[in-house]
Amino acid sequence: MAEENISRNFIENIIDQDLAEGKYTKIVTRFPPEPNGYLHIGHAKSILLNYGLAVEYGGQFNLRFDDTNPTKEKEEFVESIVKDVEWLGADFRGQIFYASNYFDQMYEAAIKLINKGKAYVDDLSAEEIREYRGTLTEPGKESPYRNRSVEENLKLFQDMKDGLYPDGSKVLRAKIDMASPNINMRDPVIYRIARMTHHNTGDKWLIYPMYDFAHPIEDAIEGVTHSICTLEFEDHRPLYNWVVEELEYEKPPKQIEFSKLYLTNVVTGKRYIKKLVEDGVVDGWDDPRLVSLAALRRRGFTPESIKTFMELAGVSKSQSSCDYAMLEYCIREDLKPKAPRYMGVLHPLKLVIDNYPEGQTEYFDIENNTDVEDGGSRKVSFSRELYIEKEDFMEEPPRKYFRLFPGNEVRLKGTYFVKCTGFEKDENGEITVVHGTYDPETRSGSGFEGRKVKGTIHWVNANDCIDAEVRLYENLIDEEKGKLNEDGSLNFNPNSLEVVEAKLEAASAELKQGDHVQFIRNGYFVVDTKDTSDDHKVFNRVVGLKSSYKPN
Ligand code: ATP
Ligand code: MG
Repeated sequence: MAEENISRNFIENIIDQDLAEGKYTKIVTRFPPEPNGYLHIGHAKSILLNYGLAVEYGGQFNLRFDDTNPTKEKEEFVESIVKDVEWLGADFRGQIFYASNYFDQMYEAAIKLINKGKAYVDDLSAEEIREYRGTLTEPGKESPYRNRSVEENLKLFQDMKDGLYPDGSKVLRAKIDMASPNINMRDPVIYRIARMTHHNTGDKWLIYPMYDFAHPIEDAIEGVTHSICTLEFEDHRPLYNWVVEELEYEKPPKQIEFSKLYLTNVVTGKRYIKKLVEDGVVDGWDDPRLVSLAALRRRGFTPESIKTFMELAGVSKSQSSCDYAMLEYCIREDLKPKAPRYMGVLHPLKLVIDNYPEGQTEYFDIENNTDVEDGGSRKVSFSRELYIEKEDFMEEPPRKYFRLFPGNEVRLKGTYFVKCTGFEKDENGEITVVHGTYDPETRSGSGFEGRKVKGTIHWVNANDCIDAEVRLYENLIDEEKGKLNEDGSLNFNPNSLEVVEAKLEAASAELKQGDHVQFIRNGYFVVDTKDTSDDHKVFNRVVGLKSSYKPN
């Protein structure tokens, strides 16, 4: 049994009790995506929860494609889902289950129900079935076909399978209770006729099982013990239980619901993400502004950061949404010891040190990461012409501005004190060059104590820095300004993507696709895996350095 010293979520409590009562001996969980889109951060919660429980209890975790609905399913989605589950580290032993592999057993199960007098073929149209179903306050009405004999039902169901009837003309329904207070129990449809080609079974089947009937069978076949799903299925649980009971499985699986993960300021929900992609609001499923797993990976989030985030978010039955800032906190914490800290100038402005010898280059040892013990150091070159951030110079500074302005002195990170002596402007009044002088006595590490400066700014050497495209992101939706427009459409943040031509310290040339780096004062970045080529590096800002989130 699992350790006692950690706080247990309600699902662990249920499992503990089931094990204590001897209901199950080995715990089996599953993640059952429908291959009709890319996975998002919400799915990561389900994956990590199911996988985590399997590991915790020494059980088994299955990846199963819920591909019983042939209309929307695509091979592209299957591949992306497998990749995402692997990326999160949820080990499914290389074994992929498909619900469609169980169509024969599902058909047999339907026959079993018919034989038990627990299912019947109904000729009512979809609309009539809806009318007969009743409402929350009124009971339903029985179909005139409800009391067909077992023989007649067997024959009709066989004929449905053999293609004797057009699509939609007949359905198989479970015979439960038209007066049940739970509408899901009012003789739900369990099989429909649909002439659709299935990506796995081709044209073999003309009839397809409905989700509420298929899912418990899939679970039972795989020996799943705890079938964990989200809250919208709570009202379907009685039907789930009815199916596994009537089919007389020896160790029936148990459905447990938990609350979905929602995040502030982002679009979750497969359907909504799909719409942003289709409407061209974003640039594909892996646009780094999305929270699909492909997008988070490309943005530079790590599996570890997502795991930590899920641990902080917890598992419960109450609806709430998590602050996006918490996810940012998790990636910052993860990258803090891992990412080297380089200098990169996002909005470059030339700085010329007029008293520094022309043609001279000098190297400074700068530590790679002051937060780790053996982070090492690297040589950073320095010369007469540098780049600094535009915002690190002001012609007329406000109070408490400690960076460069005429007459003021700052430290250039890791090197010398530099005093601003002047600047140049173009015809539009834009500052084009800042001039300064350095004081050789102030060399970093020389023990100079003559005077102090209040500001330290980063810089790169104009001679050997590299040019790169840097993409700076903001939330796609700014909830503080209102999530929806008056017409109900999403209120997009027009500044969700800013592209800049940056100047980066020479060491950045060695970074490979997917590598992380901190550009000091500017945040954590990752080398883009899609648009980076040999002669054009693209960096995505994963997250800035400042946090608005405080862990308890
Ligand atoms: P969406 O709600 O985004 O359309 P879905 O539920 O239709 O997603 P499925 O492929 O059916 O997508 O989901 C696979 C599993 O992931 C299900 O067990 C589902 O409950 C779970 N899941 C989906 N969204 C979330 C979420 N936001 N938080 C936690 N689990 C989720
Ligand atoms: Mg679904």
